[in-house]
Amino acid sequence: MIRRLSLLTPSGRLTLGNLLGALRPMAEGQHRAQGRAECFYGLSDLHALTTPHDPAVLRERVREMATLLLAVGLDDSTLFLQSAVPQHRGLAYLLECVAHTGELNRMIQFKEKGRGVDSTRASLYTYPVLMAADILLYRAPEIPVGEDQRQHVELARDVALRFNNTYGGVFTVPRAVHPPTGARVMDLADPTRKMSKSAGDAHPGSIFLLDPPDVVRRKVGRAVTDSDTGPDPVRADRAAKPGVTNLIEILEACGGSADGLASYGGLKAAVTEAVVAVLEPIQKRYAELAADQAHVTSVYAAGAARCQEVTAPVLAAAEAAIGLA
Ligand code: AMP
Repeated sequence: MIRRLSLLTPSGRLTLGNLLGALRPMAEGQHRAQGRAECFYGLSDLHALTTPHDPAVLRERVREMATLLLAVGLDDSTLFLQSAVPQHRGLAYLLECVAHTGELNRMIQFKEKGRGVDSTRASLYTYPVLMAADILLYRAPEIPVGEDQRQHVELARDVALRFNNTYGGVFTVPRAVHPPTGARVMDLADPTRKMSKSAGDAHPGSIFLLDPPDVVRRKVGRAVTDSDTGPDPVRADRAAKPGVTNLIEILEACGGSADGLASYGGLKAAVTEAVVAVLEPIQKRYAELAADQAHVTSVYAAGAARCQEVTAPVLAAAEAAIGLA
């Protein structure tokens, strides 16, 4: 049975963008894959340590996100916290001994956010190697990623090939695949940017999955539109009308339709109603799960045990090949 792997970093609270672009396709995919693939979905809490962080905030984000993955219906998958599977850290060090500094110097995140800044955490420099370990431990042949993650999968490939050629064939060499993605949701306050969980908890352009209906209404109500005074302002045109286009796409992804809507007020009311209807069952399930944290904890404990079962032999093989055992 092939394995599917996807990690989400708890760098903020989950947004409507995460739901429509990633979590919903993941939830649908696990049913299509049943019997043919085992899906591993993890929270990459170690990756959240690469930039300055507050331990209490991180702990709370992880708790919320872990509960939300269950609330959106990922319960047919193996759910885990990266830090609860020590093989991730164990393999990362071995791969640091195979990766080259030249490769890490070329990684976009480091080039854009860390290079030349004295206080940059060393982990921001090395985290692509941890990500290579995340990938290689599961021996998945295909890694479904967005275009922005291609460089990470390339590094995992290069490191796997180098390790295999130098020390023996331990790793499955993965390749990036780009499956049809879900909707791409733009920021309500700046529709030229992707709605992002990293924009901050107070950012008015992000709809969070746990936003109550009145907050959704307020955020959608303040969403940027345009000053089109023509006869047919409610129409999609990403270049000329990015805000309105985004609202129409959110409405459609949430099961509604903009047909017959003649004003931005009407469009915003319809978007609010559709988003609230999508979030309501998730929030209801979240409240039930939040009241039963012992269940959530046990799901993640079982997930971590399953991950260890799968990854321990891979780490052991890598240790043996490199000369440690
Ligand atoms: P990120 O929140 O950037 O770590 O991304 C986690 C996952 O959610 C990735 O699969 C992204 O492609 C997806 N995602 C994040 N933001 C959006 C968005 N605004 N629209 C669609 N998909 C998104």
